[in-house]
Amino acid sequence: MDDARRRLPGGWVLIEDDRIAGVGSGEPPATPVDRRLDARGKVVLPGLVNTHHHLPQTLTRNVPRVQEAPLFRWLVELYEVWRGTDAEAVEVAARVGLGELLLTGCTTSTDHLYLFPRGHERLIDAEIGAARDLGIRFHPTRGSMSRGQSQGGLPPDDVVQAEDVILADSRRLIREYHDPRPRAMTRIALAPCSPFSVTDDLMRRTADLAREHGVRLHTHLAETKDEEDYCQATYGCRPVEFLRRLGWLGSDVWLAHCVHLSAEEIRLFAETGTSVAHCPSSNLRLGSGVSPVREMLDAGVPVGLGVDGSASNDSSNMLAEARQALLAHRSGREPSQWLTAEDVLWAATRGGARCLGRDELGSLEPGKAADLVLIDTRRLSYAGAGSDPLAALVFSPWPEPVDTVIVNGRVLVEGGQLAGVDVPRLVAHAESASAALLDAALRTSGIDYRQKGVRS
Ligand SMILES: [Zn+2]
Repeated sequence: MDDARRRLPGGWVLIEDDRIAGVGSGEPPATPVDRRLDARGKVVLPGLVNTHHHLPQTLTRNVPRVQEAPLFRWLVELYEVWRGTDAEAVEVAARVGLGELLLTGCTTSTDHLYLFPRGHERLIDAEIGAARDLGIRFHPTRGSMSRGQSQGGLPPDDVVQAEDVILADSRRLIREYHDPRPRAMTRIALAPCSPFSVTDDLMRRTADLAREHGVRLHTHLAETKDEEDYCQATYGCRPVEFLRRLGWLGSDVWLAHCVHLSAEEIRLFAETGTSVAHCPSSNLRLGSGVSPVREMLDAGVPVGLGVDGSASNDSSNMLAEARQALLAHRSGREPSQWLTAEDVLWAATRGGARCLGRDELGSLEPGKAADLVLIDTRRLSYAGAGSDPLAALVFSPWPEPVDTVIVNGRVLVEGGQLAGVDVPRLVAHAESASAALLDAALRTSGIDYRQKGVRS
């Protein structure tokens, strides 16, 4: 994933502390080393970068009531469940989602947490704790909702926050956790949720705050036709124009989804350096559509991959997401417009690094962060794919974990196992936290989310 997208058959990688010190092919250098990992028979990739997630949603996967719901109904229903969340639930959910990401080759993930029930303001602190424990590189975003139903927004009034509270907590998180240094393990970004859940004033003030502190901006945009209609009715313009007027296009902004874009809007993204987190599984799951990724890449818009929240994917599998991206774009298009395995791997590595403003991630080159993934191709799912083992990682379904994951020079996954994690115990904890959320929703709303809902 260097600029020439070179492959090095029979290659080696030398790691020194948290950095890649050398990359080459043929005999490795005679440098004395502390540890040698045998990568024969394996593909070695730069660590994958996940550019959009809602980790707390791992506790509300495939909830029967919203299995057939499109975005707006899905959200309105699930706010009733998510309002029962607390720091303990977020922490276990983050361990599950980040663990899955690591096992599927992801070494850097972002998260977008925007629903803070009253009295539970330290939820991002809880997920940072989980990420640090696991050792994954983490970019949590301070999400926010301030436009409740009484102000014409989608969320109920009691799950939105006052704008001064949001901005004060954003400042606190930047102060406590944001690390601007190269190869930082934790960086904060600011992320008002969407045009239908915040005010334009909060968007503006958030952008000012982010630029004052040199942190990045993130939000959902142009995800559905419903959102487009909402923007036309509320702001008198399309979603991209809404952002443009607020000073929200720029190289410090990455946007989730961007399914419904015009050619002119794509050109505007390219011109301003705005990047996009592409989440094909979620877009297909919610019937939102397929984002014009080919057109964006051709126009020079940086595109990364995101698994999106686990209530609309319903997994945190980065390799599965790469395959989904490869396939989603082929339906009904000319072959010359299809994404290739190389395009998708670029998005999952370099494209994601561009979204997050991390030049030191996403490729195997001297000086880059030591984030690597090793995948053994001597498995049933790859048998017969030896003519192009790299493309096989995207074309062939991948039900098993990757073999080895190294983040910042530390081995976090070995032999397909998460180091230091008691997985059965974590699963049991997540299941009980998930059941507690659905039980609480039944008590407070009278709705049984375990029953199938209507299709509308
Ligand atoms: Zn999202």
